[in-house]
Amino acid sequence: MGNPMTEPTLKRCTRCVMDAGVPGIRFDHAGVCNYCHMHDKLEAMFPHGGEGERILRELAVKIRRDGHGGKYDCVVGVSGGRDTSYCLYYVKEKMGLRPLAVHFDNGWDSDVAKANLARLCDALGVELHTIIMDWPDSRELTNCTIRACVPYIDLTDDVGIAGALYRTAAKENVRYIILSHSFREEGITPLKWNYIDARYTRALIKRFARTKLEHFQNVDIHHMLYWMFIKRIRVVNITNYYDDTGEKIEDFLTRHFGWTDTGQHHMDNEMFALVYNYARRKFGFDWRVVELSAKVRTGVITREEALRALDTVPYFENEALVDYCLKKQGISREEYEAIICAPNKYFTDYPSYYPLLRLFRLPIKGLCRLHYLPAHTYEKFFEAI
Ligand SMILES: [Zn+2]
Repeated sequence: MGNPMTEPTLKRCTRCVMDAGVPGIRFDHAGVCNYCHMHDKLEAMFPHGGEGERILRELAVKIRRDGHGGKYDCVVGVSGGRDTSYCLYYVKEKMGLRPLAVHFDNGWDSDVAKANLARLCDALGVELHTIIMDWPDSRELTNCTIRACVPYIDLTDDVGIAGALYRTAAKENVRYIILSHSFREEGITPLKWNYIDARYTRALIKRFARTKLEHFQNVDIHHMLYWMFIKRIRVVNITNYYDDTGEKIEDFLTRHFGWTDTGQHHMDNEMFALVYNYARRKFGFDWRVVELSAKVRTGVITREEALRALDTVPYFENEALVDYCLKKQGISREEYEAIICAPNKYFTDYPSYYPLLRLFRLPIKGLCRLHYLPAHTYEKFFEAI
């Protein structure tokens, strides 16, 4: 049920700040959680420093060769936030590639993020394609997830970004999608907190949509197979191979591109205020724990500093901002409060492809290693649930 904030303090990992309330968490004899062990495994799989630079240099040669004769070498997903901004700079200036920047807007972009994006692309001389989702569809899809009482209500953004990147790459005949998700900086989100797939999305729409979604394009398995095997599109998460931790990234971007901090990771998308408030009140989890745990593991902050940060109220935990989000979503306070008190659900309570994906876990592992799928999809999908 909603609001477990009054429950006694849960056991925490002795190394990071993940607690026993995190789905799929296990602790070893020393009290260290499986998310920390997964981090160590990913550290070994994806070296940074000199070895990471060597891997990226070789990758740049291959991407350039495959892009020969085309207008672009790769598409890069950008939001205007720190990680994607630095990634775009890295691809253009350090790897010497010809990227097409692709931005997906589900109607929640902050003005700061939009201004960052325009300045950055202008300074780097990179073309920017912005794909805007139909607002009534975007709003209704988000409302379906809220009515479904599942933890992740920003599904529009993830489906939209994936579709925007693959569809643009396919249309432009580009073989590489460059991503910038960083397990070192952003951490590893428990699968039950943000799982999505096409069957699950369809099930939520069928059961909870009150209006017809006229323009929404799902990303289904047959689309993925077409993009992977017919269009031969690869996904490379380059952030795995360079050190993107700490404030040096923000400082660099500000100095060189007049980049402005949106205040907090995820706040390039204003709906995060609602995402955060909903998850904290309904499921008793604090989204900050994932990123703070990552910073502790990489030594950017100490565990004590992370615990102190968790004790503070984040600036986006703001009733006026939540009211603004609810109003924009067309959800009344009464309906929102009723949903907070309704029984909690997870993706496992609805139809999804997950049982099918489990059957194909070994081929999926191979596809991750060969860059057909994002690098640590396998670990996230099958080792932490
Ligand atoms: Zn841990």
